[in-house]
Amino acid sequence: MKKLINSPERVVSEMLEGLAALDPTLRKVPGFNVLVRVDAEEAKADRVALISGGGGGHEPAHAGYVGRGMLSAAVAGGVFASPSPDAVLAAIEATTGPKGALLIVKNYTGDRLNFGLAAEEAQARDLGAEIVAVADDVALADSKTKAGRRGIAGTVLAHKIAGASAEEGKSLAEVADEAKRAADDVRTMGVALTPCTVPGASRAAFALEDDEIELGLGIHGEAGALKTRLESADAVVDRLLDAILGDLRLPRERRVVLLVNNLGGATGLELAIVARASIARLEREKIAIERAYAGSFLTALEMSGVSLSILPVDDRRLSLLDAPTTASAWPNAAASRKKPRSIPIEPESASAFEESPESRLPQTPFGARFQSLLKPVVAGSLERTDRFDELDRRSGDGDFGTSLARGLKAIAERSASWNADDPSSAFRALGSTLRRALGGTSGPLLGVFFLRASVALRDRNPGDPLAWADAFDAGASAVRELGGASEGDRTMVDALAPAARAFRDACDRTGSAQKALEAAAAAATEGARATAEMSPRLGRASYLGDRALGSEDPGASAVAFVLKTLSDELNQAV
Ligand code: ADP
Ligand code: MG
Repeated sequence: MKKLINSPERVVSEMLEGLAALDPTLRKVPGFNVLVRVDAEEAKADRVALISGGGGGHEPAHAGYVGRGMLSAAVAGGVFASPSPDAVLAAIEATTGPKGALLIVKNYTGDRLNFGLAAEEAQARDLGAEIVAVADDVALADSKTKAGRRGIAGTVLAHKIAGASAEEGKSLAEVADEAKRAADDVRTMGVALTPCTVPGASRAAFALEDDEIELGLGIHGEAGALKTRLESADAVVDRLLDAILGDLRLPRERRVVLLVNNLGGATGLELAIVARASIARLEREKIAIERAYAGSFLTALEMSGVSLSILPVDDRRLSLLDAPTTASAWPNAAASRKKPRSIPIEPESASAFEESPESRLPQTPFGARFQSLLKPVVAGSLERTDRFDELDRRSGDGDFGTSLARGLKAIAERSASWNADDPSSAFRALGSTLRRALGGTSGPLLGVFFLRASVALRDRNPGDPLAWADAFDAGASAVRELGGASEGDRTMVDALAPAARAFRDACDRTGSAQKALEAAAAAATEGARATAEMSPRLGRASYLGDRALGSEDPGASAVAFVLKTLSDELNQAV
C-alpha cells in the first residue's frame, strides 16, 4: 500500500507537527505526541481539563478535536497503538489545574491501562483525574469478550458533550457525569468495504473479496461480526440500524442525533447516500432526528466504509452539541445546528423523460425496417460495453461504454413509440434520446449528429439513397462543428467523416443505399483502426498525449461497429 510519508516511525509526530503548524491555537508538547491548546495555562485556572487520545491512524481523531469547547489535549500513540502513561501524564500536566481533568478513553485494554495508570499517577500528585470509557460498538455481543464492547465513533459525541460542559465551568463530577451518561447511551456500528494498511506494513490488516463487506468491524482492522456479500447502500444501512436500534434505549420523546462517520476511504458520494438512507429509515421508525452529522470523525486510515452512531438527546444534551467550539474537526456549519430535512419519497424511476407514450406499429416498409434494425444494433453495442469502457480507460476516463449503454437502453425503452415511418422524426427522437441519456462528451455529439441528420431528412423520400448521403454529411459536419475536431485528432470524427464520404461516393457510383452503407462501414472501420496510431488532441484523451497510442479511440470504434452491424443486417435481410 503506497503512502505519502517520510518514515513509518515518524508518521504520528510529523502529523501532529503539521496540525500545530496549520492551527496556531494549538501546540505540540515537546518530546511527546501530545497536542494541547496554547491557552491551556489560562484555561486550567477555572475549567476542567478534557483529555482524550489513543492510537494514531484515526484522524481527525483525536488531535482534530483539540480546541476551546472540546478537548484540552489529545494524546497519540503509534498508529493503532495506545500511548504510554507518560505521554498521557504529560498531557495532564500541561492542561490540568485545580478543577482536575477528565480522561475520555475508548474501551480497549491498552487505552484503559495506559490512561488508567496515568490517572493514578496524577492523583498521587494531587491532581484530580477521572476516567470515562466509551464502549459504543453494538457489533459484538457483550458476552463474546471479557473486555466488553469496543469504543468507536460515538466517542466523538462524548468529547463534544463533555467539552461544552467543561467550557461552561462545571465541576469535574458534573462534567464526568454528563460524559458518562452520553457514553452509556450512544450506540454505533460500522461496515467495511476494504481493509487498511498500517504505514510501513507490507499487508493489509485483513482481506475482503471484491464483492464482500465486513459488518461490525473494529477500527483497527479487527474482525467484525459478519462477513457478507455487498448489498445496496439502503440494505447495508438497514442492517446497521437494525443492530443499533435493537440495542438502543430510547427515551419516550424518541429524540436522537445521528452521526454518519467515514471510516477513511468512503467517497463523499457514498457518505451522502448513506446519510440519506439513515435519515429515511429513522423517519420511518418515527424517531425525531434533531441533528445529523456526516463526515470523517474517527477513521481507520484509508479503510473504505462507514459507521453510524445514534445518541438519544434532550434539550440539555442538544445545547451542548450545538455549543460552539474552535476544534477543527467538529462541524461548525450552521447546518449542523439544524434538524435534517425529511427525505422526499420520489418515485423509483424518476427519469429525464416524460411518461412514455403509447407504442405504435410501423405502417410502411421503411418504418418496419428501421425498427427491426435498431434491435441488433442496440443489442450488439450493449454487448461491447466493457470493451468500449476498456478503450476509454486506456485513453480517457473509462466511461464511454457505460455512457453509451445508458443511451442504448433508453433507445430500447423508448423507440417503440417513435414514428419510424417518418425518418426525420425517428432520427430526431434518436438524437434527443441520446442527448438526454448519454451525457459526457459523446452525448451532445451523437445528439447533434442525429438532430442535423433529421433536419436533412425532412420531406425526403427514404427510398432515395441521396437523402441518406445528405443526412450522413449533415450529421458528420455537425459533430465537427460542435466538437471542433478535425480528422486526425483521434475522435469519432475519424470514423464518421470518411464514412460519410464513402457513403456518398458509393451512392454516386452504384445508386444503392445498401452498397453505400457497406462502403461507409468499411471506411469507418479503417478510420477507427487508424486512430490507434494517432495521439489525441481533444477530449479527455488529450491529457494523456502519446500514452493513448496503440488502442483505438472508443468513439470511433463504436461508430465503426454500428455501421458494420447495420450493413451486415441489411445484407442478410435481402
Ligand atoms: P468524456 O468521458 O471525455 O466526457 P465520453 O467517454 O462520453 O467522453 O466520449 C469519449 C469519446 O468522445 C471519444 O472516444 C471521442 O471519440 C469522442 N470525442 C471526444 N472529444 C471529441 C470532440 N471534440 N469531437 C468529436 N468527438 C469527440
Ligand atoms: Mg469518457
